[in-house]
Amino acid sequence: MYSYHMEQELKKTFKGDIATDSATLDLASRDASLFEMRPTMVVYPRDSADVQALVKYVAEHKSTDPTLSITVRAAGTCMSGGPLNESIIMDTTRYMTGTLLVDATEKWARVLPGTYYRDFDAETKKSGLIMPAYTASRELCTVGGMVANNSGGEKSIYYGKTENYIRELKVVFRDGYEYTVRPMTRKELMLKIGTIGFEADMYKALYKLITDNQKMIMQAKPDVSKNSAGYYLWNIWDPTTETFDLCKLIVGSQGTLGIVTEITFNLVPVKPFSTLCVVFLKDMKDIGRIVNVALAQHPESIESYDDNTLRVAVKFFRDFLKKKKLVGMVKFMFSFIPEFLMTLAGGLPKMILLIEFSGNSHDEIQEKAITLARALKDQFHVLTHVTHSEAEESKYWDVRHESFNLLRKHVQGKHTAPFIDDFVVRPEYLPEFLPKVDIILKKYDLTYTIAGHPGDGNFHIIPLMNLKDPKTRDIILTLSEEIYDLVLEYRGSITAEHNDGIIRSPYLEKQYGSIVTDLFAQTKDIFDPEVLFNPHKKVGVTKDDIAKYLSKGDYGEATKK
Ligand SMILES: Cc1cc2nc3c(=O)[nH]c(=O)nc-3n(C[C@H](O)[C@H](O)[C@H](O)COP(=O)(O)OP(=O)(O)OC[C@H]3O[C@@H](n4cnc5c(N)ncnc54)[C@H](O)[C@@H]3O)c2cc1C
Repeated sequence: MYSYHMEQELKKTFKGDIATDSATLDLASRDASLFEMRPTMVVYPRDSADVQALVKYVAEHKSTDPTLSITVRAAGTCMSGGPLNESIIMDTTRYMTGTLLVDATEKWARVLPGTYYRDFDAETKKSGLIMPAYTASRELCTVGGMVANNSGGEKSIYYGKTENYIRELKVVFRDGYEYTVRPMTRKELMLKIGTIGFEADMYKALYKLITDNQKMIMQAKPDVSKNSAGYYLWNIWDPTTETFDLCKLIVGSQGTLGIVTEITFNLVPVKPFSTLCVVFLKDMKDIGRIVNVALAQHPESIESYDDNTLRVAVKFFRDFLKKKKLVGMVKFMFSFIPEFLMTLAGGLPKMILLIEFSGNSHDEIQEKAITLARALKDQFHVLTHVTHSEAEESKYWDVRHESFNLLRKHVQGKHTAPFIDDFVVRPEYLPEFLPKVDIILKKYDLTYTIAGHPGDGNFHIIPLMNLKDPKTRDIILTLSEEIYDLVLEYRGSITAEHNDGIIRSPYLEKQYGSIVTDLFAQTKDIFDPEVLFNPHKKVGVTKDDIAKYLSKGDYGEATKK
């Protein structure tokens, strides 16, 4: 609970800014999810010392004020409610920003967590390097948010998610000190466990939890290429290499175990050439088989968006233009003429697939794309197009990247409703799985867009809903249940990259069963038994919380850009 006295006390050790005005609290009450939670205070730490001071303050006062807790907010683009809290919001984007070092020889970079990915990307690209797990929200989100959500994106079928690029983290844990977290050999781990103090106890308890329950933990691992659900207990201890890597637990934990104050990412070289094989599908019946044919050619991306997404892009075309310079604007307008004509004639394709090849030789990747286009045409009688320039490619990518954001900004009277926005199954199941999803969706009278990463079997279905209508809450709960039952029949995961937050944490038990969710609760207890960090995420969240914190739909856009 906020009080003037508390603010004055905190200011003795905390050098950053503190805000309690209603405009700031309003903004921090929302993210890109369906939820609203109004904090009592927003603080802007100047550095790690400030983060440590805040954690110490909350730890010391938790027993007298149990409502106190800290949730980190970065860019606030989370679609699951991750950065929302009724107590203290800690915003990293004011001061804890900047790329500290890029090591071009060893291919890694050190960065502060509030840095926008777009700024980090610009720095690493000066050395011809990139952190390739970037999201469709790459222009909007921060690297800290990407680590905490274990984000992924269009390159994930080839490069994997954020978890694959973390070399080292600095994390402030509940004792209010910063620790370096990185992979350790068994010998290093045993040495650490052999010492005394907070860190030793934490490693000892976690190692015991993992080794005591190893078989159960390994069986729980979802059979998919991308997963952001739960705590990734199966990834921490690798018995074959005898490596213990706590970064593999912190990534994707949504700030529920500690606060990340510095990130060191491994990087990969930027490939100079790319080309797209664009596939226009009249219906969804062959999408699964087409994706499997394309996957055999090892593309760097297989992305998709549907006719509703394309309609949104054409309708709000002016927003795209605003981002282009004059020459780019003219080229971009001309490139969209076929889509305008298709819209007028009502003949839009049901789904567009973008299959991208990248490499060091233009001719080689062009050849690959042309060969695939021919094969798909022969086998499935689909319309295909191979792009010849970056400008042509960017038209398709712009629609893919911007569609959800455009929808959020422009929808009138309704709200984009991400709740079945991120399920994933292995792509070979898609031919059987997708028609079943369609049967479920048809039972509900919803307008929705579908975009996603079919190369990973990961789809983002975003319905438009009236949040003031009491039926909306029931639909969210029943439709989630039906879709997740189906996803779990195929040993998939309820979230590939958007994470659990408030919207999916209540379904973790459905996915993992009671024994494994109890291991998640024990994990939370090892790191944060008093719940100093980000309550209502991962553990102890119920379906009633979904109803309780569901937005009333009175607000507009909440993210910073
Ligand atoms: C238009 C749009 C497109 C999107 N596309 C994708 C996509 O392609 N792939 C994808 O994976 N996601 C996507 N997202 C979701 C979102 O952008 C990502 O999850 C992103 O990484 C969140 O970053 P952020 O800076 O906005 O974090 P926030 O939303 O501010 O926070 C996300 C979570 O991270 C925690 N957190 C942030 N910083 C720290 C820290 N320093 N220490 C501990 N915890 C921390 C927060 O508490 C919260 O739980 C999209 C969202 C939008 C709006």
